Amino acid sequence: MSQPSRYFAVPTDLLRKYDRPGPRYTSYPTVPVWTEEFGPADYEKHLANYAASDRPVSVYVHIPFCEERCTYCGCNVVIAQRQDTVERYLEYLFREIDNTAAKLGGKRRLLQLHWGGGTPTFLRIPQIDQLWNKLHTAFEFDPSAEIGIEVDPRVTSPEQLRHLGKLGFNRLSMGVQDLTPEVQVAIGRGQTVSQTEATFTLGRELGFAGINMDLVFGLPRQTLADFRRSIAQVVKWRPDRLAVYSYAHVPWVKPHQMQINEADLPTGPDKFALFATAIEQLIDAGYMPIGMDHFALPEDELAQGLDNGHLHRNFMGYTVSLSRDMVGLGVSAIGDIGGGFIQNDSRLGGYYRRLDESGWAVYRGWSLTRDDEIRREAIIAIMCRMRLDFAELDRRFGIDSESYFKDDLGHLGEFYDDGLLTRADHALVVTPLGRHFVRNIAMVFDAYLPRLTENATVKKPIFSRTV
Ligand code: SF4
Repeated sequence: MSQPSRYFAVPTDLLRKYDRPGPRYTSYPTVPVWTEEFGPADYEKHLANYAASDRPVSVYVHIPFCEERCTYCGCNVVIAQRQDTVERYLEYLFREIDNTAAKLGGKRRLLQLHWGGGTPTFLRIPQIDQLWNKLHTAFEFDPSAEIGIEVDPRVTSPEQLRHLGKLGFNRLSMGVQDLTPEVQVAIGRGQTVSQTEATFTLGRELGFAGINMDLVFGLPRQTLADFRRSIAQVVKWRPDRLAVYSYAHVPWVKPHQMQINEADLPTGPDKFALFATAIEQLIDAGYMPIGMDHFALPEDELAQGLDNGHLHRNFMGYTVSLSRDMVGLGVSAIGDIGGGFIQNDSRLGGYYRRLDESGWAVYRGWSLTRDDEIRREAIIAIMCRMRLDFAELDRRFGIDSESYFKDDLGHLGEFYDDGLLTRADHALVVTPLGRHFVRNIAMVFDAYLPRLTENATVKKPIFSRTV
């Protein structure tokens, strides 16, 4: 496979220089800014704002259950062995779906649906059907809707996968992390190469598009040679998309990570080398950097979306869905609708209690101000279009955006010097090298970041590091 000439690998000294705590910008303002003063009445107000529009919607459903907890896990998970736990959860989830549909005043056109977890395939086939049917009573599924699910190759049976395909799921995302058995043992996962290959191959046979694999660097006992071997194998399968995440070791937030022996973690230059090698191998294998830590084959819709300006970013990651409004359903789920961000309670007991009390599970949220809207647009443009057109912002918000961002623009010097950013006529343009650092560039436009980082202690940052 030839290397696309527009992209090239990243020097480790740049990775080291820009390795700073920073948000992933699946929202702006970011979650730590949101407030617990935001309650059910605020959520209803934003749902009503949205209901008054004719915009389509995206839906995220969180299924929190896993059989066991992997030691490196950073997700919101409920370890469950008993099926009645799931039955109870579905009962409450269905209540939340009904309440949402009632507030939206009819079935809204759904353009994107994602089931995430936890492990969504923890649900048995009849439970999958119940949830699927329930969602169909609440939303009008567009024939072209992007319908995705996270599948764990260790627990997803061929029957489940076939069934999901028959229902209409058309996107798959699977965790791989690293194929090396020693690493799998060290992260308490034990996923085998044959499990991963079998799930991927069946997904392809069933016609799933946009198959994504997640890789993670910086895991315990991970060596450069082993990670290279893993990536070499993964690119032979040719998933459409790959995400290469940095392992965030935050045992003060996720106490189960204390089971990981810190002496086994690659740090400093070793960790940068893992990321650098991943970038190089993926580019050599023909993958396009989409932004931050995401890569896609040139024919994949994400790569095309980047080229034609249709790429967007939401809590589900990068997408080409035309819907910006998103309903989040389930424990810990996040929504972005009618000018507000909403997060549900992340504890199962709290989720049930809040739904019993008010009909909503909202735990915190944020109503966007005009400055938030303007900055959010600038950050999305950098993260998703690799270009910030000031004329577009001027038109959209009736401002002189270069004056509006005068102070922020004064902080971009190092990005020009390092070849990550250039100036075009009335625009900022992220270079191919800069694509790996869009998060750092976006941070300049974040008005809340100085306050958030000042408040965070050095030992316990609120954001993961950018590398
Ligand atoms: S399967 Fe995924 S969500 Fe579940 S514990 Fe492991 S890493 Fe966390």
